[in-house]
Amino acid sequence: MKAALIVIGNEILIGDTVDTNAAYLGKKLSHIGVEVVFKSTVPDKVEDIKESFKTALNRAKIVIIVGGLGPTRDDVTREAVSDLLKKKLKFHRRLFRNIESFFQKRGVEIPSISIKQAFLPAGAKELKNTVGTAPGFLLKYRNKLIIVLPGPPREMKPMFEKIIPTLEEKLRNSPIVIRKILRTYGIGESSIEEGLNDIKNTREFEIGFQAHPGYVDIKLCARARNKNLANKIISKFESKIFKRFKNYIFSRKDENLEEIVGNYLRKKGQTLSIAESCSGGLISNLITNIPGASDYFKCSVISYSNEMKRKILNVPAKFLKKYGAVSSSVAGRMAEEIRTLTNTDIGLGITGIAGPSGGTKNKPVGLVYIALSTHKGTTVEKFNFYGERTQIKEKVALTAFSLLLKYFLSR
Ligand code: ATP
Repeated sequence: MKAALIVIGNEILIGDTVDTNAAYLGKKLSHIGVEVVFKSTVPDKVEDIKESFKTALNRAKIVIIVGGLGPTRDDVTREAVSDLLKKKLKFHRRLFRNIESFFQKRGVEIPSISIKQAFLPAGAKELKNTVGTAPGFLLKYRNKLIIVLPGPPREMKPMFEKIIPTLEEKLRNSPIVIRKILRTYGIGESSIEEGLNDIKNTREFEIGFQAHPGYVDIKLCARARNKNLANKIISKFESKIFKRFKNYIFSRKDENLEEIVGNYLRKKGQTLSIAESCSGGLISNLITNIPGASDYFKCSVISYSNEMKRKILNVPAKFLKKYGAVSSSVAGRMAEEIRTLTNTDIGLGITGIAGPSGGTKNKPVGLVYIALSTHKGTTVEKFNFYGERTQIKEKVALTAFSLLLKYFLSR
C-alpha cells in the first residue's frame, strides 16, 4: 500500500527547522510495509497545501499531513483539508473543553485564538493529543485514509504510534512492501555487488546498498500481494545472501553500531574507557545513549589540550613534542593510559585534526589515529577523513565503533 507525506511549514523550507518528522514517519511506515511514494514540503498557505494534497490523493491510498494545526494565523491545514474535500469545519464542544482544561491546569485562561483548534472537518475522527493542545484527526475520503498530525515531534509521535494498528489492519491482505537490512563489516559495497550480480532487481524483489563509515548495508526489499508472500520472498533471498556473506554480516537488524558494540561488551563481560581528543566526547555520548551502558562503560576523558593529555593521561611532554599530538604514538599512549588509569579491559584513544584549520601538508585536516588497547597489546589505525568538522567527528565515532566491532569479531 502506498502513502504520501505532506510536511507543512515555512520554517522547514527556510531551514530553521530540520524536518525530522518525515524521516520518522518514513521509517515507521516502511517498517510496517507501507511504501512512501511521494513527499512534499509546502509553505503555510492554503493554496499550496491544497495543490500538494491533490497530488498526494492521486498517488497514494494513505495521505499523512503534518504541521499547521496550531492556533495562529499561519496554521491553515484544517482549512486547506476542509476546502479541498468540501467538508465543512465543525465545532466540537468536547474538544473545546479539553483545550480549555489544558490551559486551566496551567492556571491560564484559554486564549481566544485557541478556539480554532476545536474545529475539525465534517466526518473527521479526533486523534487525541496527550502532550499539547492541537488535536490531530483521521478522515476517510472515498477509499483513502487521511491522517493529519501536529508538527511538534513530541506531540506527533505518540499520536502516530496509536494509529499504527489501524494502518496494519488496513494493510491486511493488501499489497505490501517489506524491507530487511543485512549489515556487513570488512567488505566494500562493490565486492558485495559483484558477489550478488546473478540476482537481478525485479518488481518483486530489489537489492540496494548503503555505505557508512566502517560498514555497509545490503538492503533487501520485497513487494507482494500480502505480508505472507512478501515475507517468503525476503526469507528466500536473505538466506541465499547470508550464505554468501556470512563471514561479513554482523547484524540483520537496523541497529546502531554502538548498540551492537554495547551488546558484545556486555556478553563478553568486558569494560571500556575512552580518551577522546578531536571527537570531543561524541563517542562517549553515543555509548551512553544506550540504556544500561553502565554495565560496560567506565570512564571518558576529553583530553583536548596537550596539557590535559600530559596531566590526566600522563602522556610525556617529550613524547608530544617528538611525535606531535596527532600521531600514532600519542593515540596508542592515550588508549593505554586510560585503560590502566581506569582499570578496564579495553581502552580507546582518539586523536586527530577535525578542521577546518590546523592542518599541514604532512598532517592534513581529517587525519585521525584511533588506538585500541587491551592486555594483549595496542593497535593503532590511521584514517584520512573528508568532510566538515562535525562530519569528521561523526565519521571518527562510527569508525571507533567499527574497530571495537572488528576486535570482537576477530576473537
Ligand atoms: P503548534 O500548535 O505547536 O503550532 P502545529 O501543528 O501548528 O502545532 P507547526 O506550527 O507546524 O505545528 O510546528 C510547530 C513546531 O514543531 C515547529 O516550530 C517545529 O519546531 C516543530 N516541527 C514542525 N514540523 C516539523 C518537522 N517536520 N520536523 C521537525 N520538527 C517540526
